[in-house]
Amino acid sequence: MRYRQLAVGILISLATSYGISINDRLQAQTTNIRQVQTSGSIIVNGIRATPTGLMLSVSGNPQIQTQREVNPDRLILDLQDTSVVKNLHQASLPINRFGIKQVRVAQYNPAIARLVFDLDSSNPDSKIAWNSQYIAATRTLILTPSNQTQTSQPIPINTPNPITTPAVVERLSFSSNGRLLIAASQPVGYQARIDAAAGTYNVLIPNATISPNLQRPTLAANNPIERIRLSQVGNSVEVAVKAIAGWQVREPQRPINRASTQQIELQVSLNRVASGNQTTTPINNSTIPAPQNVGDRRRGLIFIDAGHGGNDPGAVANGIQEKDVVLPISLKLGQALQSMGYTVYYTRTNDVEIDLEPRVAAAERVNADVFVSIHANSLAPGNSGISGVETYHSRTSTVGRELASYVHSQVISGTGASDRSVRGAGFYVIAKTSMPAILVETGFVTNPTEARNLDNPSYQKLMADAIARGVDQFMKVRGR
Ligand SMILES: [Zn+2]
Repeated sequence: MRYRQLAVGILISLATSYGISINDRLQAQTTNIRQVQTSGSIIVNGIRATPTGLMLSVSGNPQIQTQREVNPDRLILDLQDTSVVKNLHQASLPINRFGIKQVRVAQYNPAIARLVFDLDSSNPDSKIAWNSQYIAATRTLILTPSNQTQTSQPIPINTPNPITTPAVVERLSFSSNGRLLIAASQPVGYQARIDAAAGTYNVLIPNATISPNLQRPTLAANNPIERIRLSQVGNSVEVAVKAIAGWQVREPQRPINRASTQQIELQVSLNRVASGNQTTTPINNSTIPAPQNVGDRRRGLIFIDAGHGGNDPGAVANGIQEKDVVLPISLKLGQALQSMGYTVYYTRTNDVEIDLEPRVAAAERVNADVFVSIHANSLAPGNSGISGVETYHSRTSTVGRELASYVHSQVISGTGASDRSVRGAGFYVIAKTSMPAILVETGFVTNPTEARNLDNPSYQKLMADAIARGVDQFMKVRGR
């Protein structure tokens, strides 16, 4: 692992003195190269805000050139020899901390990926320099604000290696009495907290990384733990554990001496809210209940996946964030399907960020009959005239295509939206699910009229009811 400080220099932009903003330049550049093959050998797959800065998922450690531009104030990071994946090109990420309003991402030219930090000049933090740190084990580039105010001179790159070697989180497992064990390569401390919004119990392990060969248990349908999510947050590893309804995660009643152990133990127990005493029931195989909320499965189980959430807004345009419109459509879809007699599961029912892998895992765990992912679309500036619905299925799935066709024709006739056709694609959630799966791009937030529609509860209901009718047709044809 290497720490280094980004070289930062003040650059009085030529473009500014000619009265052209960097925004325009960035737009012009990125629009022109839309069709150009990118040639950077390092790939940026993802970017997210964390409590301590920004985290990029990268395939290698890029050289970073930074420049600061004024009026409006921006910090520009050019990742050399780097390409961003298509769905990140022209993405923007609201930050509202560290003196940054938002971060925009673009393929600046075929070999340079550009991050633009739009700074809030009124915030003193906007003067702070940023450090970068590449963690090879997790292929993560961490960007964190330094404590120093930046000077007008470039600050030399490369500071010495960190003094302490980070612990590596290597294995998750269950003990014989049902405790969740988190094992690291060396003794670790941790802080635990309950994330009420996400409904998770979070353990933050400082100075740690996630092993690329992390071993984790398969969560059986009758396990009271619904999901375990690990994320790299700055220099720490966060383990978020979610229990099913009626169960809770907590530290064992007699916490062991933490300082000398490589293992963190968490107890999973029945949540006895009403009971006066604090006794807990450690789980074992005989006390694990049947899964909650299975209900009547005769008509079938539909898994609804509202895209994005939390720090990941999805497409943003016309004052609309994708995550905020796909959630109500998903919830209305669930209501419609339940009224038809289907059992419905959701990946999220509130504004939380969930990785793609646990979305698929959850659908597999409940053995869903159909998987429906709800998204909204966007296009680059200059294409705001384009609107309509696209329904995707896995390229390799004929039954997925069949499901997509039923749903798509219902949506087009039910909403009057433009028909942008049924399409095959390799999106993770439809490619990795084993059941018939579709991803509905319900409209373009970049089209002002469609953005208003997507934000309108009546239109959302039209959309949801139409998708439900399509799913129902599909299920009936298959004898359900
Ligand atoms: Zn989306």
